[in-house]
Amino acid sequence: MNHKSPFQQTIRHAFQCQGVGLHSGQPSDMTVEPASPGHGIIFERSDLAGTPKIQATSSCVVDTFMCTRLGNPQGVTVATIEHLMAALAACGIDNALIKLQGPEIPFMDGSSLPFIEMIESTGIVQQSTPRRILCVLKDIRVGGEGAEDRFVQLSPADRFSARITFDFGGRQGMGRYAYHFTGGREAFKHDIAPARSFGFYEDAQKLYDKGLSLGASLDNTVVIDQGKVMNPSGVRFEDEYVRHKILDAIGDLYLAGAPLQAVYTAHNPGHEGHHKLLKALFADPSVWRYEEQTP
Ligand SMILES: [Zn+2]
Repeated sequence: MNHKSPFQQTIRHAFQCQGVGLHSGQPSDMTVEPASPGHGIIFERSDLAGTPKIQATSSCVVDTFMCTRLGNPQGVTVATIEHLMAALAACGIDNALIKLQGPEIPFMDGSSLPFIEMIESTGIVQQSTPRRILCVLKDIRVGGEGAEDRFVQLSPADRFSARITFDFGGRQGMGRYAYHFTGGREAFKHDIAPARSFGFYEDAQKLYDKGLSLGASLDNTVVIDQGKVMNPSGVRFEDEYVRHKILDAIGDLYLAGAPLQAVYTAHNPGHEGHHKLLKALFADPSVWRYEEQTP
């Protein structure tokens, strides 16, 4: 994301919320606290003995099926971090401690908007240490051998932007969508943050049987049946699906551990692709470098 502040930032005061976890279906309490420069984004499982912590970095990703899940070597995990991470990225929050009373981030309304609103209402504080950004120096890509194959790519740029095509492949008559996000917190808040998760009604039972999506409902997911949206209030945007894909990408990519200075392009992206992309990036030191912002 593009941040005017050359300094690291945190939130002014702690904030708290409760909600159901998308996959566990269990209620979860979350408190987000300010943190000192250099701390980064860290999750804490406050409900477990010893309150284990997990750093929000790509090296801690343990699963990418249906959400992004982080874990530590002892098997402690936090799931469905991507919508909160997107809000933190968009607001330029470098440092925060996220205390969870359960295994999953509250899913709220299935978008990032509640998190943005909580961050903005507590306020953002500039800290005294310069921010470090991650500059992409050459194209790096995962997938996309054929023209219609899914892929994710980062390319050099002087600011962050994202361009996605998302194709339902004609499933239930659903079509193809494209979106170009030009970056910035205000544009994220208005055009991307409100876009909710989505899924097909006919898939729900299969996911329930696997113990997934137990917290999904029409209150937090756009549900498609026979090519029609089941939610009584309809969609928030006609292209809500592809906007949500941008949201997920921004959240997943913030696991780079620093704001990215790159153009992100993708076709039918997913959490797994983002994880592989960051792994490939960090495996090749010629593709990126850190740059300290100069005040
Ligand atoms: Zn999502």
